[in-house]
Amino acid sequence: MAGVSLVCVPLVGKSVEQMLSEMATATAGGADVAEIRLDHLASFEPRRDLDLLLRNRPLPVLVTYRPNWEGGEYEGDDGWRFEALLLAMELGAEYVDIELKVAQEFVDFLSGKRPDGTKLIVSSHNYQSTPSIEDLSILVARIQAVGADIVKIATTAVDITDVARMFKVMVHCQGQQVPMIGLVMGDRGLMSRILCPKFGGYLTFAALSTGKESAPGQPSLSDLLDIYNIKQIKADTKVYGVVGKPVAHSKGPIIHGTAFRSVGYNAVYLPLLVDDFESFLSTYSSPDFAGFSVTMPHKEAALACSDEVDPIVKYIGAVNTLIKRPSDGKLIGYNTDYTGSISAIETTLQGKVPGASLADRIFVVIGAGGAGKALAYGAREKGARVVIANRTYERARELANFVGGQAISLADLENFHPEEGMILANTTSVGMYPNIHDTPLSKPFRQRMGSKAQQSHSPKVELNSVFSLKRKQALKSYALVFDAIYNPTLTRLLREAEELGVTIVTGVEMFVRQAMGQFEIFTGLPAPEKLMRETLLNFH
Ligand code: NAP
Repeated sequence: MAGVSLVCVPLVGKSVEQMLSEMATATAGGADVAEIRLDHLASFEPRRDLDLLLRNRPLPVLVTYRPNWEGGEYEGDDGWRFEALLLAMELGAEYVDIELKVAQEFVDFLSGKRPDGTKLIVSSHNYQSTPSIEDLSILVARIQAVGADIVKIATTAVDITDVARMFKVMVHCQGQQVPMIGLVMGDRGLMSRILCPKFGGYLTFAALSTGKESAPGQPSLSDLLDIYNIKQIKADTKVYGVVGKPVAHSKGPIIHGTAFRSVGYNAVYLPLLVDDFESFLSTYSSPDFAGFSVTMPHKEAALACSDEVDPIVKYIGAVNTLIKRPSDGKLIGYNTDYTGSISAIETTLQGKVPGASLADRIFVVIGAGGAGKALAYGAREKGARVVIANRTYERARELANFVGGQAISLADLENFHPEEGMILANTTSVGMYPNIHDTPLSKPFRQRMGSKAQQSHSPKVELNSVFSLKRKQALKSYALVFDAIYNPTLTRLLREAEELGVTIVTGVEMFVRQAMGQFEIFTGLPAPEKLMRETLLNFH
């Protein structure tokens, strides 16, 4: 039945004491079930240890004794394993897991002595791939035929579209007597672990903390409960997410998940590790997959896949927000990077000088990639005189031609100060972690200082020693300096500008505003600005 998946935490401690402590933490953290992985114990004395583990247990338990031929750590024979699992049943374990390969032998072994009250999970693991729907269905039937109370199938996602097959089989099983656990392992299978209540999965696994996973791709218990809000996911919950590669570092799930929850919007927001954007969209074409944030390297592909876009998005050449229009399912593309960054710059400017505007001001954009185009078109929309400086001069010239602006080389930037009150926007990754000593206003720090200085741990000394007069002069001509980089928040460019009293705007401000824009497109509701800001700052 959709909407009530149990959350099970595997206990992977090497000793009974560690497992008991993990069980207490899992209980406090909100788990529904604890999986006792007997094969993880360094030494195991069945009667003594199972008694300790099951006596006064705070949670229902699933007892698993996984052999190495099925991905576990037990290397002995099946006779010993079967005896231990029978003992766990006699001691009242709520669930026991047995692998399909030996399930018939185990059922025969139990014959006549099977205690009531323990549910038998018969499991099958595929660490290479996810079979076809037909083969998965045959597997389900075989597991049911052997007498399972619960079917468990875990496969591996080679591509995120593999998960759709597991969802289809789970939905098909919903009407049947025997519940199913269907999980797809690996980073590309993450959504199978989160969306199981939506598709009728009986149970999902969550690691107690990062590093305590018992299978690839398990989210942590706190992420599952707090970020993905799994207890609120139902069959009709809409799915949103950030599509990218890589995507694990994205702050989207925490910021959007928290915002959805705060307004009671029935939706979940996931990291979606996608290799091929088009096949992802065509596989998850149902209205349930309602909208996406799009990040590197799929922003151009998202534009190509859009049925309709804002006119300016066509010029920018990149879509960072895609929704399915509920009335006709058409894909509508937006770009909130440009609205987010330009509004951050304009609002800050007006905070300093009421009534100040970007119109007729020189607006220097460093970079001519996705963010560079967004800033350049956004500035032109506001009537600014746009200047593009880029490492590859050809790209600067191309973008400058498009926006009716001027192109200069990156080397010229230090000497470029035709007037006061200009805006400077860095949209390159120069200065981003780990190269935090670099600034786009001069040569990379490593080249200037050599390897000894590179190893120095005193950024203040480094900063002062290379903060040339020229650069000071150049920076002083700006009324405001913006950096799209959000890691670190205060880049070297911004630190130096701030030191000279120039107003700055960080990439974090752009990030929060583009996320607010996305929230409003996704939900049609005003974004909870204060909450989204606080969430991002707490997480940063
Ligand atoms: P992109 O399309 O790959 O463009 C990268 C730009 O940086 C190009 O102009 C490139 O010059 C230049 N560049 C790269 N390495 C350089 C170097 N070592 N020296 C000089 N120039 C260099 O990337 P993007 O999507 O525009 O992203 C750029 C930055 O913006 C990233 O740091 C990203 O994190 C940030 N960003 C922030 C937000 C936010 O919400 N705060 C949103 C989007 C992007 P060439 O043309 O010569 O290759």
